[in-house]
Amino acid sequence: MIRLDNAQISYNSFNLNSGILEFEKGKIYCLTGPNGSGKSTLLKMIGLQLQPDSGSVSVENEKVNYGKSEYMLRIRRDVSYMLQDSRLFHASVFENAAYGLKIRGFKPSEIKERVNRMLDRLEIGHLASRSLKGLSGGESQRVRLARNLVIDAPVYILDEPSAGLDTRGRELLAEILLSYSKDKGATIIFTSHHKEEAYRLSPDIISVIDGKVSPVPRENVLTGQAEKTGEKLYRFYNEKIDHLYFSSDHEIKNKISLAIDPEEIILSLTEVHTSARNCLPGTVKSIKDTVSALQITVTAGEDFTVLITKNSLEEMKLTPGSKIYLVFKATAVKVLN
Ligand code: ADP
Ligand code: MG
Repeated sequence: MIRLDNAQISYNSFNLNSGILEFEKGKIYCLTGPNGSGKSTLLKMIGLQLQPDSGSVSVENEKVNYGKSEYMLRIRRDVSYMLQDSRLFHASVFENAAYGLKIRGFKPSEIKERVNRMLDRLEIGHLASRSLKGLSGGESQRVRLARNLVIDAPVYILDEPSAGLDTRGRELLAEILLSYSKDKGATIIFTSHHKEEAYRLSPDIISVIDGKVSPVPRENVLTGQAEKTGEKLYRFYNEKIDHLYFSSDHEIKNKISLAIDPEEIILSLTEVHTSARNCLPGTVKSIKDTVSALQITVTAGEDFTVLITKNSLEEMKLTPGSKIYLVFKATAVKVLN
């Protein structure tokens, strides 16, 4: 387990504080947030690349001692780290993918076996002997991923692993990450701009906004039945919810899980009638202050979490018990399976 306890770092006017974060074995975590919010910096502290100015990082309940170089080397070896701007070098695709295994002293025969298997898994096996020249951005990204994922490590840290990948590339990446956490018990921590990807892969999403870190447990996950009501449009229902519309490009049958990003839900004092939008009547259950916004729980059959600013709360004069409508687009509802 990796634990950060108010690990803090400052650059000029930028200040990042991890608060308390715990990363457990076998789980997948995703850091999301806008550009420059501090995701890469936080990742570097988690991955032992960067020593915090204050606070601490612990690995397996032991505070990391950055001064002991042999010990640092040993614990860093347990982390397969992919930097956001990691460079490939002028050599073949195979040589690039083999790099991590080489420096870890693997036998050439084993390197060959493993690298080829990983290249095939990422569907770039046919590129093995190619030089990097002329590779597309997406292909280069797959090479970087191969170099990282070919290593057996208890912990994988990947900064923007899906940058530049096409849909198929993202699918392959997701398959590998899920299998590593499930079959090998690996801990995986990655950053992503794709909210959908974050929600699909990770039950634990950590939001980083302007250096402020707040864990966002997976919110608004609903399980029930779906019924087709139009082209790409479905009605969702379960014992608590009757009508919730969502869209899907894929055919949906029977049981399904959905997630609605708390930031995609708007609160309205009046009922809103438009097609392609949901408008569920509900009651405010609780209001909680978090670092970046107010978190409101609204009961509308199921409990929904919504994030709003302090200003909107004051404007709407909401208190527990207030009657309110939850408004969100059918396209804001993500299908998880
Ligand atoms: P993100 O990965 O979310 O885009 P970063 O962690 O890369 O954000 O950067 C957060 C902030 O810290 C930015 O304002 C960036 O310019 C600054 N920063 C990052 N690394 C350094 C550094 N080595 N020196 C000075 N400023 C830095
Ligand atoms: Mg970054």
